[in-house]
Amino acid sequence: MAEETIFSKIIRREIDADIVFQDDLVTAFRDISPQAPQHILIVPNHLIPTINDAKASDEAALGRMMTVAAKLAKEAGIAEDGYRLIMNCNQHGGQEVYHIHLHLVGGKALGPMLQ
Ligand code: IMP
Repeated sequence: MAEETIFSKIIRREIDADIVFQDDLVTAFRDISPQAPQHILIVPNHLIPTINDAKASDEAALGRMMTVAAKLAKEAGIAEDGYRLIMNCNQHGGQEVYHIHLHLVGGKALGPMLQ
């Protein structure tokens, strides 16, 4: 059984976060340490530690993460100029929180890669 992270508490609204979207499958909230003018994390409501752990039964939540990201980008007014969606995996990918999350980053011109 994978261990819960702080993101599960945010999803259940047990601790404060700036939640910008929530439905039956996913929750989106502002990153506590934004790397760009817009930096939102989109997470599945159920715990998937890394993308390596994703199963076919997770596909609805994974798909919703993408469509919600696009909707939030439009709402933030950054869709036309563009933005970046990033998911880090494990140590070499720089993953720090082991509850998968899609970073929606934008609001400025980004470099070739986030460091
Ligand atoms: P990772 O490196 O892809 O795992 O990214 C983890 C992200 O979670 C980082 O950008 C952190 O700033 C962010 N983060 C960690 N704790 C919190 C929190 O309590 N609220 C919002 N964002 C958080």
